[in-house]
Amino acid sequence: DRLGARDRELAARRGRLLGDAYRLFYREPVHLVRGQGQYLWDADGVQYLDVYNNVASIGHCHPAVIQAVAAQMAELNTHTRYLHGRIVDYSEALLATLPPAIDKAMYVCTGSEANDLAIRVAQACSGGTGIIVTREAYHGTSALTSGVSPALGSGQPLAPSTRLVPAPDRYRVDAPDLGLWFAAQVQAQIDDMAAHGIKFAGLLVDSLFSSDGVLPGPAGYLREAVDVVHRHGGVFIADEVQPGFGRSGEAFWGFARHGVTPDVVTTGKPMGNGVPVAGLFARAPVLAAFSDRLPYFNTFGGNPVSIAAAQAVLRVIQEEGLQQHSLSVGGQLLAALQALGTRHEAVGDVRGAGLFIGFELVADRQTRAPDRERALDVVEALRARRVLTSVAGPHGNVLKLRPPLAFQAGDIDWLVGALDEALAVTAQRG
Ligand code: PMP
Repeated sequence: DRLGARDRELAARRGRLLGDAYRLFYREPVHLVRGQGQYLWDADGVQYLDVYNNVASIGHCHPAVIQAVAAQMAELNTHTRYLHGRIVDYSEALLATLPPAIDKAMYVCTGSEANDLAIRVAQACSGGTGIIVTREAYHGTSALTSGVSPALGSGQPLAPSTRLVPAPDRYRVDAPDLGLWFAAQVQAQIDDMAAHGIKFAGLLVDSLFSSDGVLPGPAGYLREAVDVVHRHGGVFIADEVQPGFGRSGEAFWGFARHGVTPDVVTTGKPMGNGVPVAGLFARAPVLAAFSDRLPYFNTFGGNPVSIAAAQAVLRVIQEEGLQQHSLSVGGQLLAALQALGTRHEAVGDVRGAGLFIGFELVADRQTRAPDRERALDVVEALRARRVLTSVAGPHGNVLKLRPPLAFQAGDIDWLVGALDEALAVTAQRG
């Protein structure tokens, strides 16, 4: 057909022109041209429900962000070595959302840069090199961060000083106390570093363990591990690229759900609603060893336009009560998905915090054998029902349901109905 031919040709041109490391979603890629709130439209005018994007976190094309960026763009945009009010005003407002001990801000453009800087800060502070991450972690695309990103697969060697721990997965780990269990995993890797002459620098985790399969609970399970890190002179870095900015509903930051205070917090995606702005927030004494040794300059990081976007996002989250919204609508969605799960044998576990839900598919409920192929088939069947999402987890069998916070209770029927049908029309594959 003519329209299919148009998109096939665009995909072929893209393939010829762009680097071959890029991957598109879907067997038939989606060609999007417009977004609004929680909805997206393709080039044929077909409307989709976006259940995947935490980048346009407060909603696609939010007017407050458009207006703030356009106005600042028309006035001034320059690098960050001049005085400007916005970066100072925003730092005050953002630091006020963090525990008082975290009192310094630095700005970059991507989550990768924030984590790259965080690793350098942790290494300078501790005098060590060893970083512990989870087995399916993704922390970025720079040399340093891909060296701590096992999710990239076997083509990306980890840094020799990187150590992996299994994630605290309540569905798959049989331990009476997940927090103590996780702390023991961290301790074992610190010991292993010592045995290999590597000095421990820190623990870097996403407090919702997104790429490990979306692991929200039980809240509190990070506490003992953070104590272990501090006992061994390490730095605890909370990667808030996924759980931050109200996503988990229960708190503004993901780590706060666990009752811990990080030494360093990194952010990215949701901070500017699609405008590239990211940050690192830290305790002053933790930053000192790095700052005393080195100047830091990031041309675009925290420029007036990026910060105008970030200010608009923070204001909207606070004024529209989006964290509370995430908690209440996320709770309703979770309940509806759990009810759906009882009607389909393939659903092993449904878990979430706010508008971030993991929906895990298994070939057998007794053995909990993951069904990756089924999950991929369901993602395609959802696309056919105009619902966009993807998979996560070490077995690739967890549907990652993480819509913009603009998602409404009225969207639940579309998503749950589509998922019900998708489960009905796909067959067990695992
Ligand atoms: N950390 C986490 C937890 C992420 O999910 C991502 C992006 N998927 C990053 C870091 C890297 O962010 P960016 O793509 O903005 O560099």
